[in-house]
Amino acid sequence: MPLGKRVVTGIVVDANAAVNLEATAWEKIKPITEVLDDEAFLPGPVVDLALWVAEYYACGAGDALAAAVPSTQAHKTIRIAALTTQGYDEEAVRNLQPALRGRQREAIDALRGAPQGVPVPELNGRGISTDVLQRLAEKGLVAFRRHRIERDPFTSGVVTTHVVSSTGRALTDEQARALESLGAAAATGEFAVFLLQGVTGSGKTEVYLRLADLVQRSGKSVLVLVPEIALTPAVASAFREAFGDRVAVQHSGLSDGERSDQWHRIRRGEVSVVVGTRSAVFAPLAKLGLIIVDEEHDTSFKQEETPRYNGRDVAVMRGKHEAALVVLGSATPSLESSHNAATGRYTRLLMEKRVHDRPLASVSVVDMRLEYAEYGPDVIFSGRLKNAITKRLEAGQQSLILLNRRGLNTAVFCRQCGSTIECPNCSVSLIVHAEGRDRHRARCHYCNHGILVPKECPACKGPYLERRGFGTEKVADEISAIWTNAKVARLDRDTVRRKGAAADILRSMASGAIDILVGTQMIAKGHDFPRVTLVGVISADVGLGLADFRAAERTFQLLTQVAGRAGRGEEPGEAIVQTLYPNHYSIRHACRQDYVAFFADELLYRQTMRYPPLTALVNLVVKGRDARAAMTDAATLAHHLRNNADVGRFSVLGPAPAPVAKLRGEYRAQIFLKGGHRAAMREAVLAALVAEPEMRRRVAIDIDPVTVL
Ligand code: ADP
Ligand code: ZN
Repeated sequence: MPLGKRVVTGIVVDANAAVNLEATAWEKIKPITEVLDDEAFLPGPVVDLALWVAEYYACGAGDALAAAVPSTQAHKTIRIAALTTQGYDEEAVRNLQPALRGRQREAIDALRGAPQGVPVPELNGRGISTDVLQRLAEKGLVAFRRHRIERDPFTSGVVTTHVVSSTGRALTDEQARALESLGAAAATGEFAVFLLQGVTGSGKTEVYLRLADLVQRSGKSVLVLVPEIALTPAVASAFREAFGDRVAVQHSGLSDGERSDQWHRIRRGEVSVVVGTRSAVFAPLAKLGLIIVDEEHDTSFKQEETPRYNGRDVAVMRGKHEAALVVLGSATPSLESSHNAATGRYTRLLMEKRVHDRPLASVSVVDMRLEYAEYGPDVIFSGRLKNAITKRLEAGQQSLILLNRRGLNTAVFCRQCGSTIECPNCSVSLIVHAEGRDRHRARCHYCNHGILVPKECPACKGPYLERRGFGTEKVADEISAIWTNAKVARLDRDTVRRKGAAADILRSMASGAIDILVGTQMIAKGHDFPRVTLVGVISADVGLGLADFRAAERTFQLLTQVAGRAGRGEEPGEAIVQTLYPNHYSIRHACRQDYVAFFADELLYRQTMRYPPLTALVNLVVKGRDARAAMTDAATLAHHLRNNADVGRFSVLGPAPAPVAKLRGEYRAQIFLKGGHRAAMREAVLAALVAEPEMRRRVAIDIDPVTVL
């Protein structure tokens, strides 16, 4: 439709709405330029879901709908021009003779030889302009339609991994029991949510596959949400193996074209199973019977830009709308889901043993304070971890080494004036990365601003610059220096920039071409490498210093998950956790892999501090040119909120500078709303923005935030 001088694509969500306009206003409304689809583009339930997202997360309906459609519609289809019956009628053509200039005649002749039509770009290439075709269309001689071009994402090599075929394998008792409960729930055809809490290596994927098979056989479709397919290709591959062509994959590693092709296959009903990352929650599947959210605690389900939805929570709502069974799976459920299970909203199913009764990794803690006292502050590997790595190399077994921090050094510090080199755009210090042998660059992890590491302090010109802290790059270098024959690889955001790089590293790991894999949280994902018998954690407390109420939860999940990567094959596994805070409850409980104890302690903390899941939280981030402007605007909004008629139902905290007070050149102030009544908080925020409309663009509303940095 025309909008000002542009032509834009819109989505009709209601054709029968009563509109009350003056006759003069009606005259100003321009007609629709072209209707792109003969049938509804999005299924009704998906439109409803997107509208629910818009309301719940307080974003525009257009933003939510945009998340539900494949991104670049125009590139995925091609416009075909063909003659109408009238166009073949020489009489009719001649009747139009006076207007029929040479170009139009040429176009008609070109189309005469192609009853199926010719792509418009191809006609353009032969010198027949779209204008000419358009004029013929206006005269009824030519018609346009759209044709879709398809690509198979599996053949383009994005998702590749080895899969152990599951056919004929006997289920463990726990798997069988879980499957029985889930199968019975699916058969009722009613909405229910189950939390499948199974320790690492308990075989959750097998349960998903069998359940999906049951549901699919009953004529219903299945939606599987996974965190990041590039890092955890195993689940997608297992589904592909089991269901072949009946599976479509939706994830961000696909090209726009591939994504769109998959989307249209789903829309046409050619698949019964969709595996995808968070946006796949809007997949246009009909007759939905089952939604599985694997690793439901994973933060990648939350979109950190508008619309700021949580794919897991939207999945639960979709299940409710469409009377489907929802299964949330994890070894370390989020506090939210676990609390919902504890209060009876969800049904918890436990799988407490690994398959074949393999033991969980035995975990030991190394107090690095003692290690530093004895060997100095530059120690990276404790004696115990060193010995353990050496033993694995001798035995031909693999090790994973986790440090959840990238780079060579984490700060450049001046011993003369005490300043640290910071990003000019963000309030964080620059991280040093090696670029070749002697070229070191200090880079911002938020905005990517980079400088070559200077020889002298930019602030005082002193020559006493010192590097502090270390990240994965340093750890990998150190390993190569100590164990010169070991084959070492690194898996972090820096090494997986290239498409397919993550898959390459994972494949080398699976084939045994790597002895020691160093990495960030990426190595803690659901990988199943049977030859890994040792997991070393360098600084278990990296995340605990963050000013985020989920810091302990994140740390517990990360440590439990990474320990869960060891001992998944014949040989038992061992994990060695180095930390400065061996007594912190998240580290203590993770080392005993005691979810119940962690949940109890963490819930108490959330209760005392009034944080989710015991209260709802809204995070408003107000951006400004300078710190003052951001704080002033935030104070204005906070004032409106505190004067809201509903203010008895929630509390308003702040404004305060956000933990990352400056980001990509913008200053950020933060307001928290806490309370039991989400709708009241949302309405109050929207009302405050109605009162200050010019602030709208500068305010990010985050309902149920996953991080508040
Ligand atoms: P989780 O996701 O619970 O950590 P996985 O689904 O990755 O565990 O399963 C762990 C391993 O056990 C995989 O290698 C899988 O192929 C294997 N496995 C799962 N179920 C069985 C079974 N019933 N018998 C034998 N092996 C199984
Ligand atoms: Zn920056």
